[in-house]
Amino acid sequence: MALSEPQQQFLENWMRSKAIVGCPLCGDAQWQFAQAAYLRALLEQGEPDMSEEKGVVKVGCGNCGYLVLFDAETVGIRGLWAEGRGV
Ligand SMILES: [Zn+2]
Repeated sequence: MALSEPQQQFLENWMRSKAIVGCPLCGDAQWQFAQAAYLRALLEQGEPDMSEEKGVVKVGCGNCGYLVLFDAETVGIRGLWAEGRGV
C-alpha cells in the first residue's frame, strides 16, 4: 500500500530526525519517498492486515535500489492514514 503524501513527508522528516540521510550502501541521498509503501508483515491467522505493530514501511534508494524497512510502529506513521486518504 503506497503512502499518502502526508505520510511520505512524515517519513522523510522522521528519517531526517534520526540522521538517516544517505543510503548505507551507495551513500546517495535519493530515497524514493514517492514509492514508499506500507507492508504488512507476517501475520498470524485472523489478525487484521493493518496491525500497526506488525507492519513495516519500505523505502528504496533511487540510485542502487537498496530497500530499507522500518518498523511502522516506531516510525509512528499509522496515525496519518486518516489524513489525505479519506479513510
Ligand atoms: Zn543506494
